Formats: sequence, structure tokens, C-alpha cells
Amino acid sequence: MSNKAVLKQILIVGGGTAGWLTACHLAKHLQSQNPANVQVTLLESADIPTIGVGEGTVPAIKESLAYLGISETDFIRECDATFKQSIKFINWRKSNTAEPHFYHHVFDYPEQAEIALTPYYLLQKPTSSYVNTLGWQGAICDAHLGPKTIRHAEFAGETNYAYHLDAAKFAAFLTKHATEKLGVVHRIANVTAVQQASDGSITSVVTDVAGTLTADLFVDCTGFRALLIGETLKVPFISKQDQLLADAAVAMQLPYDNAEASIPSYTKATAQSAGWIWDIGLTSRRGCGYVYSSQYCTAEEAEKTLRAYLGPAAAKLACRHIPMQVGYRQSFWQKNCVAIGLSQGFVEPLEATGLLVYDATARYLAEMLPLAPELWSEAAKAFDQHVHYAWDRVIDFIRLHYLLSDRDDSPFWLANRFELPVSEVLQHKLNRWRYQLPNRYDFPSKFEIFNLDNYLYVLYGMGFSTDLIARTGLYQQQETAEHAFATIARHTAQLCRELPAHRQLLAQIKQYGLQKC
Ligand code: FAD
Repeated sequence: MSNKAVLKQILIVGGGTAGWLTACHLAKHLQSQNPANVQVTLLESADIPTIGVGEGTVPAIKESLAYLGISETDFIRECDATFKQSIKFINWRKSNTAEPHFYHHVFDYPEQAEIALTPYYLLQKPTSSYVNTLGWQGAICDAHLGPKTIRHAEFAGETNYAYHLDAAKFAAFLTKHATEKLGVVHRIANVTAVQQASDGSITSVVTDVAGTLTADLFVDCTGFRALLIGETLKVPFISKQDQLLADAAVAMQLPYDNAEASIPSYTKATAQSAGWIWDIGLTSRRGCGYVYSSQYCTAEEAEKTLRAYLGPAAAKLACRHIPMQVGYRQSFWQKNCVAIGLSQGFVEPLEATGLLVYDATARYLAEMLPLAPELWSEAAKAFDQHVHYAWDRVIDFIRLHYLLSDRDDSPFWLANRFELPVSEVLQHKLNRWRYQLPNRYDFPSKFEIFNLDNYLYVLYGMGFSTDLIARTGLYQQQETAEHAFATIARHTAQLCRELPAHRQLLAQIKQYGLQKC
């Protein structure tokens, strides 16, 4: 029998949503409920709070919950979760009318016909919006309807969807699932020192009340503090603030005006003079916050702007100011330590990329982690390469929202449009897309976090111009396109009649539950 070292113990430090998602993915894949397999332990502090924000998700979370064996009914009931079908961007462009400009970035794919409809939309220049011409989900959102009925099974629906959730309740929910169903060991203590071997790898963490904990692999989920990857292993943090200016937030939770108030099934992202305000409806309350650039706005001004947006309901409520580190680690896997969560990287939460990237990288780690530590340095190279690629493309996509804006009412928007650098990758794509439609070959990697559909909604929602005049010969199926647009309009009207109000659907799920899939 070989006497080579084999992975036996993984210690995750940090019990925010990143820590618990990572614990679930590792324990699920390594089948840790069987004592003969790798033991996964999560250590968290009772004194150092989790960041407590992070309420918006994207549809990939649905796939993860199902994969991890979580019941959608239990999740909705215990995390005050609501459905999210879109991000509604308000005032990201100047408006030509008395009404603010808005568009939806929805989660359904736009091309739901036998031919690609986007070129016909662009050539016809119809009065209705891109999202409403090519699909039904924008209209469903505007009517505050749910994505499914109580008769749909768990995780199924008429439209694709994600969730809004209470971050603290989600971490508690994952704790229960990880410890009761997946075999994760839970320890509560403060790390007071980190011990290293002569080659720099981590051998153990010393705690105040749980003794010294050893492991073969350590996962740093300690949030912005980055206790292991940053403070101990000194892996530098690469700031990306030259491309994305927002570096602070002020957040507030407030009750609904009345118990029957309708709940939007989308996140509102309303542009302001130095950033934007998120507005998310949970079953029990709203969560709102102003994400802004401290170069262009003081914390006091930001709080004033948020309070003005929320009106009298917020007058007596407390708010929380949160500094944000924008960028990512130079390396995400150093020696025997992997960083997942805010310790790995973070950009402003405009497209809910936090949980998305942490969830994806946790599952990737679980599935590619060699059991022989001697193979880790090769695995680390691949991990670093893929996760860097993912973060760079996330930054491109967020940057795109600002770059396409025609707002010129404040130095923040002018800097975003004319002064900040644009990555070569994004610039080349935009150059091509001025004369040719985006296509799937523009998104070649499995590690694209945002794909063709996401780009189509943002580009054409923001009025990006692709000049197809030279290619009109390729688009001669007007009748088929007209027929498809008419079918979409009819289906939109039908769904708007049949789908329940979002609040009503959530109440039904709380009362009756959904059928298991
Ligand atoms: P944290 O929640 O900070 O957890 C850190 C953990 O480490 C805690 O358990 C703490 O106790 C522990 N710890 C630290 N030091 C020690 C120690 N010495 N000993 C023991 N334990 C220790 N993401 C989204 O996906 N959608 C959103 O809409 C979204 N909105 C956001 C809005 C804002 C303003 C910000 C700042 C972030 C947002 N995010 C969002 C990101 C989101 O907050 C993170 O995805 C998520 O909360 C993960 O945080 P974390 O687990 O990495 O860190």
C-alpha cells in the first residue's frame, strides 16, 4: 500500500454565506457524512459578525440548492426568500420623457423562436422595449407576478428565476443543512494565531476556546479581513478601483407600509449621482442600500440620498455604513490555503456576483480537489487561472453598465464614461458589436459568469447601436419574425392573466409548500 499523504481534514475558517456554501459543496462532493471520508470542519467566531448583506442572487443558486439536496419550500420559508426574475435598471440613461428610463435584465433567454429575433428587432426599431418584444418576463415583473404557480414542483417555473434572501437566515439555514445532512463539523471560537511550517504552509489555527485545530487544507472564508490568505500568507490584494469606482455602501432594512403591500419579483437598481441604490423585497421587510464612490460622495451625503429615496418610512431607522474592497487576490490558492468569499475578491453588487462567484468556485474546488496533496500545486495553477478569468469577465460586465450610459449630470458619471480604462477584451467586443451582433463565440469559456443573453439585455436595454444595414441581406425572414413577435405578445398576455401575484404565491408556499421535484 502507498504511504503517500492523503487529504483527511479540511478546515474552513469563517461562517458567512461563503463559508457555509463552501462547507456544503466540499462535504457533499467528498461524502463527509461517512466517517471514513474527508472530514470537513467549519470554525466561526461568535464575536465577529458576518457582513450581513448580500440579498440578491442569480439563477445558478437554484441549481446549487437542488444539487445540495435542499428543499425549495424549506429554503423559502426559513430565509424569508422571495423570487427574483430580473434586475430593473432605473435612470441608468437619460430619459426623453417625463418618466424615468428603465430596462429589465431578466433571467429568461431572449431568443425563444426558430430564428434569432434580435436582428429583426434592431432592424424594425419597434416602439416596445427589447425585453418586451423578445419575451414575457419583463411584463411579468412589471405586474409584480411570481415566476410559477403553487402547482409547479420545486425549482420549476414558467420563467427562469433566482431569489432574494435574508443573508443571516441563509447562513443559519445552510449551517443546519451542512451539519445535519452533510456531515460538516461545526466549531465556534476566535482564531487568535495561525501556525505555519517552515515552507510557509499552514499547520494549525490556535483558538481562544476550541484549542488548536490542525488540518491538511484550510479555506479562508473570513470575509474582507482575509485572515489566512492575506494576513498570514501575505498574498497581495489587487485593487480594481481604477475600473469600478464604487467602494462604499450605506444599507438599511425597513418594514413594508402594510402587510399586503405588493412585493416586486425583481431587484430595483436606481442610478444616483455617485452610484446606485438597491431595493430588494423579502417576505418580511425591504433591504435597501446606496452603493457609491467615496471619491465623489461623502458618507453623510450618501446617507442623505438613501433616506431621501426611502422617504418618511426611513426617518427613524438606523443605517449601516460598509466600506468595500474592490478587486481580487493575486492568487486564490497559496500553499495549502484556498480563499473563497470576500477574502477572495469582491466588486460592487450590481449583478449579484458575490454569491454567484463564491458558489461557483466552491463547487469547482470540491470537484477538482486532488486527494493527494502532492498534486495541489498543479491544481492551484488551474484554479487561479480559471478564477482570475471569471473575475476579469465579471468586472467587464459591471463596467459595461456604466460605459453605455449617456448620463452627464455628475463628475462620477463623466469619469465612468470618459476617464476610466476599459479592458482590451471588452473594448474589442464593443468595437465588433457596433457592426455585428454579439454571438456565442464571443463567450468561449466555461468560466464565463455572464453570457450572450446577459449582454444582449444590457446592450439593447441601454440602447446600444449595432448597425446591421450592411447585413440586411442575411435577415430576410421578416414574416417568421413578425409571427414570433405576435406569438410572444399573446403568450405574455396569457401568462399575465394566469400567474399569481408574487406576494400571494409566497403566502401559498408558506402555507401548503411546493411538490418535491
Ligand atoms: P462574512 O460574511 O464577512 O463572514 C466572515 C466570517 O469569518 C464570519 O463568520 C466571522 O465570524 C469569521 N471570522 C472572521 N475572523 C475570524 C476569526 N479571527 N476567528 C474566527 N472566525 C472569524 N452578494 C450577492 O451575491 N448578492 C448581493 O446582493 C450582495 N450585496 C452586497 C452588498 C454589499 C454592500 C456588500 C459589501 C456585499 C454584498 N454581497 C452580495 C456580497 C456578500 O456580502 C457576500 O457574498 C457574502 O456575504 C459572503 O461573505 P463572506 O462569507 O465571505 O464573509
